[in-house]
Amino acid sequence: MIIDAHTHVYPDKIALKVVESARAHLGETVSFIGDFTVADLKKVMKCSGIDAAITFCVAEKPKIVRSANDFIIDVTDNKTIFGFGTIHPDMEEPLAEVQRLKENGLKGIKFHSLFQLTGAADKKLLPIYEEMEKLDMIAYFHVGRDPGDPSSPSLTTPQSISFVRDRFPHLKIVAAHLGGFLELEDAAQWVHGKDIYIDTCWSPNVQALSPREVTRIIKRHGVDKVLFASDYPSTTNIAAQIAWLQDLLLTPEEQALIFGENALKLLAV
Ligand SMILES: [Zn+2]
Repeated sequence: MIIDAHTHVYPDKIALKVVESARAHLGETVSFIGDFTVADLKKVMKCSGIDAAITFCVAEKPKIVRSANDFIIDVTDNKTIFGFGTIHPDMEEPLAEVQRLKENGLKGIKFHSLFQLTGAADKKLLPIYEEMEKLDMIAYFHVGRDPGDPSSPSLTTPQSISFVRDRFPHLKIVAAHLGGFLELEDAAQWVHGKDIYIDTCWSPNVQALSPREVTRIIKRHGVDKVLFASDYPSTTNIAAQIAWLQDLLLTPEEQALIFGENALKLLAV
């Protein structure tokens, strides 16, 4: 069983526009293997041997939160597609929207500092985390730099994830990109070893890191808190990434955790 814990989709009518603007933003640094539509995600999952995926539709502006969430609720079956909602810190009544997501069966919310220009430790987000903690929801964060602009400082740093961890001890937290894209030293200090899930997405792919480094991070952090993830569609061939990860010096039991069992536990299914 393989679960991809980090993918992105948009409604068909805007998916093409998103690809164009993402290409313009990310330039040559990132490749795209799909077009952000649900049909394409399912096709890529099938070709890559992936059984289920967690997927996000992140709203960049407050006024599109509800429609983005309507779409993600619609595509979620919590069997093969686990949609996570979106909340913008500047929207009206964010707590009511968090409750609506929960009532509609969504298990988590993705916070994306690159699209929403808000870091994880922003005061405006704290009441939202409090509500999510009460409702036993998962907070999934982009952590670290922007692949399209890697020299700019990041808004959601590994340290800000540690702040959220300490402040909301029962909130389920996932820190994407091994705990900090291009900020692995900070991730080692603030994220690794803590009660936080990390995912294996890297840009353009996990093979950009050395097998030794990835193995060391997994072991040091704890193999029971690592989720296989691709970042579809901004990635390269996913089957090749799976094969690369399967070649790491991990036991079959450890592989099973990373490729599916940890995600099943996190999702409580
Ligand atoms: Zn992503």
